[in-house]
Amino acid sequence: MAMNRFSKKQIGFLLCVFFSLLGSLLSYYIGKYYDDTDFVLGNFILPSLAIQGIISSSRSILCILMVLIAYRKGMVTAIILTLLALLFAFLRIVRFQDFSSLPGIFNIVFSIITIAIIYSFYKKSEQNSRTDFITGLRNRRSYVEEVSAVISHEKPFCLACIEVEDFKELNDIFGIQIGDYILERIAKKLSGVLSKNDIIFKITGATYAILFALPDPAHHHAGDDSFVPPETRLSEVLNAEVIKIPAADNTDKTLERNCTVTLCAGLAYADAKKAATYNASKILKNAEAALFATKRNPDCKLCVFTEEMENQEQKQKEAEFLIKDSLENNWFYLVYQPQFTTGEKKLRGFETLIRCKKPDGTIVSPGYFIPAAEKTSLIMKIDDYVLRRAMTEFKPILGSTGKDCIISINVSAKNIGSKNFADRIKAMLEETKFPPKNLEIEITEYSFSDSMETTVENINLLKALGVQIALDDFGTGYTSIAKLMKLPINLLKIDKSLIDDIESNSNVMDMVDSVIYMGHIMNCEVISEGVENEKQLELLKKHNCDFIQGFVWGKPKSYDEAKALYNEQS
Ligand code: C2E
Ligand code: MG
Ligand code: MG
Repeated sequence: MAMNRFSKKQIGFLLCVFFSLLGSLLSYYIGKYYDDTDFVLGNFILPSLAIQGIISSSRSILCILMVLIAYRKGMVTAIILTLLALLFAFLRIVRFQDFSSLPGIFNIVFSIITIAIIYSFYKKSEQNSRTDFITGLRNRRSYVEEVSAVISHEKPFCLACIEVEDFKELNDIFGIQIGDYILERIAKKLSGVLSKNDIIFKITGATYAILFALPDPAHHHAGDDSFVPPETRLSEVLNAEVIKIPAADNTDKTLERNCTVTLCAGLAYADAKKAATYNASKILKNAEAALFATKRNPDCKLCVFTEEMENQEQKQKEAEFLIKDSLENNWFYLVYQPQFTTGEKKLRGFETLIRCKKPDGTIVSPGYFIPAAEKTSLIMKIDDYVLRRAMTEFKPILGSTGKDCIISINVSAKNIGSKNFADRIKAMLEETKFPPKNLEIEITEYSFSDSMETTVENINLLKALGVQIALDDFGTGYTSIAKLMKLPINLLKIDKSLIDDIESNSNVMDMVDSVIYMGHIMNCEVISEGVENEKQLELLKKHNCDFIQGFVWGKPKSYDEAKALYNEQS
């Protein structure tokens, strides 16, 4: 039982100490009483000196093991034990005038030198394992040790997580060497905000952490106001900075290039009283959640962690896991909501809507996972999945009657704003043999806020292929009419939030009427979404809305139901 209290390392260390001491005593004893004796072991005859030599070498090895096992403590113990052996050797010379132990003394001195060399190498490698080799700052491993120590001493502190924005792109444009140069420059810049007890780390690729020591309220004296809060200190260095990138040979100043580097930060405060409730990784997670919030808000460069952020982060992560699982295990499926002409209720086509069915049978609506997907690149995978699946499912049906039917597919702003989107659609059309004129891509106004140029370019390329473009959720954004007139779209989809109020509020009805009128001037057709009752339907008919989509004439349908409706109509 007592053995359980010691770790394997401690037991190993104690055994090394024990045998090393035993060796020294044995060596002294043999030297004193059996100096001229030859020991017989079977066929071997071992002179006393040889045995003492073996003991001395074994002791050296044990001392080296001590250093490897217990590092600094091992080194100190090994040196003490070796000095003890040295003392015994000297005693023999002084007391018995016996110089036979002289070679042993040399052996012991070499042993001390060996221990010192091994210790210094070990120390260096330990330092290296705690250092980021690009910036020379402490690394993540050191972070865990330092922050854990501060937490265990129940000292208040603030942790800042600072990231170089779009570092991957900088690396791609300028190359890895310049990337490293930028990281070094940022390390120097951030080191400038440190006070005496603060520590800076580089924890991952382009992320730094600063441990800001806070004044301990218990020892804070009134009037001692020299402390500057981390937010104030950091805000001075977070502004965009133009870094001059030196030419390859570092001499020709005319070949210098400019590179704009921006930083963003997230801060988490650690209250000494709550030290028991967190650890180094929890506090880092909080600072990262604050950093995440900063990145989502283009108007701010620094956020401080709040409980609410933790919940949001948690929800986001859960949704991301669900999406990854659904893509891997085929939990996603599509439903199709019919769209009709307002006058004769003729089928125009279907809007494709994604659903997720978990193994326990629960159906998850896109309102839960699409916003989470849009914050990551998972939305690209979802859009790809929906596009390919809808085209594959509808291709055989369309071919059977030859009757026109539009399959409308929601595509995220990230996708329509990405460079190769039109090429990907073209490849998919060829792969599924889906007729381009039957495909409609639904985008929202947000697609034009981030990457207007690429979006318009993609739309034109898609239109050249024969694909149609719809502007979804119209009336919820802030697109100016001037901008809208320039957009090359085919269909304007009036959002449900406007349709909801057309019966009760004549102003809203007037507005919807103007939107329909404007759509027609732009050479667009207009569809109203979320039409739920006959009264809304009548009003929209009266105001010349071309199409409607809503529960009044059809909820989203399974593939088989949609197929039956299409066959029945044609
Ligand atoms: P959205 O594109 O505006 O889709 C219309 C939403 O309104 C759908 O909700 C639809 O079921 C619902 N809806 C249609 N008619 C009515 C009605 O009369 N009454 C009511 N109360 N609701 C109606 P859903 O399927 O939950 O989709 C929500 C949003 O999720 C969609 O809005 C779209 O932005 C996104 N989404 C859905 N499927 C996909 C997809 O495959 N890809 C992408 N990127 N986004 C999708
Ligand atoms: Mg839509
Ligand atoms: Mg919509």
